[in-house]
Amino acid sequence: MSTEYVLRTQNLTKTYGRHNAVDNVSMNVRKGDIYGLIGKNGAGKTTFLKMVAGLANPTQGTIELFGKKDTRTGRTKTDWFRKSGVELQRKRIGCLVEEPGYYPGMTALDNLEIVRRNLGITEKDITKKMLEFVKLSDAGKKKVRNFSMGMKQRLGIAVSLIRNPDFLVLDEPINGLDPSGIKEIRDLMITLNRERQITILISSHILGELSKIATRYGIIRDGALVEEFDAEALEDRCKRCQKVVVDDTARAAKILEERFGIRNYDVPDEHVIRIFERYDEAERINSAFVMGGIALRESMLVGQDLEGYFMDLLGSDIRTGIGL
Ligand code: ATP
Repeated sequence: MSTEYVLRTQNLTKTYGRHNAVDNVSMNVRKGDIYGLIGKNGAGKTTFLKMVAGLANPTQGTIELFGKKDTRTGRTKTDWFRKSGVELQRKRIGCLVEEPGYYPGMTALDNLEIVRRNLGITEKDITKKMLEFVKLSDAGKKKVRNFSMGMKQRLGIAVSLIRNPDFLVLDEPINGLDPSGIKEIRDLMITLNRERQITILISSHILGELSKIATRYGIIRDGALVEEFDAEALEDRCKRCQKVVVDDTARAAKILEERFGIRNYDVPDEHVIRIFERYDEAERINSAFVMGGIALRESMLVGQDLEGYFMDLLGSDIRTGIGL
């Protein structure tokens, strides 16, 4: 079965003056993904998402949305987007990239109503449905200027959902929220993804939060996408193991299986075995190797947690928020 992509970019670049805010980014977001774009402040996340959402025009590179590609670049937005297949596909995107310009003296419902009319959406009920969905129905007559940060974010998500999108692009939606607000947004993302089959691209510099929901990750540093990988691959990379270096891995493997019943191990190279279970029996295993005539050159418990892994990738000043 071929993979269906919602977004693919190739060498996407945005230059401001001489500085590449986004530098040759080739990203692949598959249908059904919750894709976490991770990077420090100033890494280029917003600029990248703006290009995807059609709010900024690329200097170079291509964007493919739902299989429709546009290779044109141009000096103005109109040059770039005119009659483009991509632009039509953008109607299928809901985005929260820049703070929507709310009317602070109006209620959430009135604000949504204005968006509905501006977009020419005829289904009148949609505004109430969206407010219910983001749990803002209770806000009633409260004016948006008196909303908490979390309420404003949820209203922003309601705005982004009003066109019934297939793809949601959200820039740091949990920025500045307290733990309960963060959880609400997280639960909302999961519902949208699982129940409404919406593909989500979400940026954050709070890694721990994304690690609870993301199915795929992209790491952006100084404008460049330095890594892209699935959640399973991340788990694999962070796996703890007992690593032994021996002269004869075949004999060592036999001992593991026959004496200890251990099957969860691999042999990444000629002299190395990684054992992914029974860490508390490491000493007994080592003795059994030695008794079995195996030259044991090294034995250690290795492994990295998610936090350590990201810190290595991004530098120590990143905020991990793991455990939030
Ligand atoms: P943050 O989380 O702080 O918003 P970010 O990862 O989203 O960070 P961007 O806002 O995309 O990063 O900024 C990337 C780089 O591009 C920064 O160095 C920023 O100063 C620069 N930049 C962004 N927009 C412009 C602009 N309109 N003109 C000039 N430089 C810009």
